[in-house]
Amino acid sequence: MEGMPPRRGRRFRWSVPLGRVAGIRISVHLSFLLLVALVVAYPGPLGIVGGLVWIVIVFACVVLHELAHSVVAQARGGRVHAILLLPIGGVSQIERLPEGWVNELLVAAAGPAASLLIAGLAALAAVGFGHDLLPIDLARGPVTTRLLWINLLLAGFNLLPAFPLDGGRILRAALEPRRGVEAATRAAATAGRVFGGLMIAAGLLWDLWLVVIGVFVILGATQEQTVTEAHLRLQGVPARVAMRAPAATLDARWPLPFPHSGGGPWPVTLDGRYLGMAREHDLTASTHGTVADVTDTTVEPLRPDEDLGRTGLDKLIAADGQTLPVVDGGAVLGVVRIADLGPWLERPTLGAGPPPRR
Ligand SMILES: [Zn+2]
Repeated sequence: MEGMPPRRGRRFRWSVPLGRVAGIRISVHLSFLLLVALVVAYPGPLGIVGGLVWIVIVFACVVLHELAHSVVAQARGGRVHAILLLPIGGVSQIERLPEGWVNELLVAAAGPAASLLIAGLAALAAVGFGHDLLPIDLARGPVTTRLLWINLLLAGFNLLPAFPLDGGRILRAALEPRRGVEAATRAAATAGRVFGGLMIAAGLLWDLWLVVIGVFVILGATQEQTVTEAHLRLQGVPARVAMRAPAATLDARWPLPFPHSGGGPWPVTLDGRYLGMAREHDLTASTHGTVADVTDTTVEPLRPDEDLGRTGLDKLIAADGQTLPVVDGGAVLGVVRIADLGPWLERPTLGAGPPPRR
């Protein structure tokens, strides 16, 4: 899998960082501990140690799958910050996807290709060691055989032609040259909802885990469609057109705490120049120090001419409170909030006329 609205600079919520590979932060979600607890409580044929080692091996395969997406995305000019491991698989957070359907095709295909490569190596090893390739059993048998099948499963599942899976992206990329990006996105999202529904139906008959994955696929498909359409509708809209101005700013030297205002987050300035963003909660909770102490200086502001559809929206989705300042030469010109983008997001057709009046 890949995608999900990117988050920049920050850690994932409820996750533990494991380290970095090729500049990409790898974290594991805390719900992963549930899986570990399950293995300890119900060891199965592999035993507790064998079960835990197997979990580590499976997740290494997922990491390699996600890294393949990330490395290709970076090679094609994209930027990847982090990979999050969930019990149901991995999620790459690609900040800036390289544009164009050829790039999307290459990035999407890289993950399943990596999984198929590992499966091939595992099959060679299994034959070399004289292990049987059948039956398909992920809970027992030689590790080479299990490695072969888990990676075939990873590749096969992700190649289903349905958003938000890799196959859905490949489908969209294939449809885009003839049908345009919006129709192609709708088709891939519809396929996602259909496949998700089939998984839920099959899961109710055979395995509840499939129900969970089916729900995830349906939600992911719908979210993917919404985010893609938002990107398209905001293309050509510069940040300065959508910003509220002038913006209320806080001086970095002001003492804490602040009284509750119910607003924020606020841009903070030092000697009239943008310093970072401060959240309402931090401003009111700290009983000593100054505004500078609770200012997040890693928040990268929007430029006045920054295209919201290309990069601005991704930054806004990832930003605390979905609010970002617009800064030019150090001066804060205003703030853009996702909540204020409604007039553009509700445009009935794309590229029809100038941005709506507000
Ligand atoms: Zn993938």
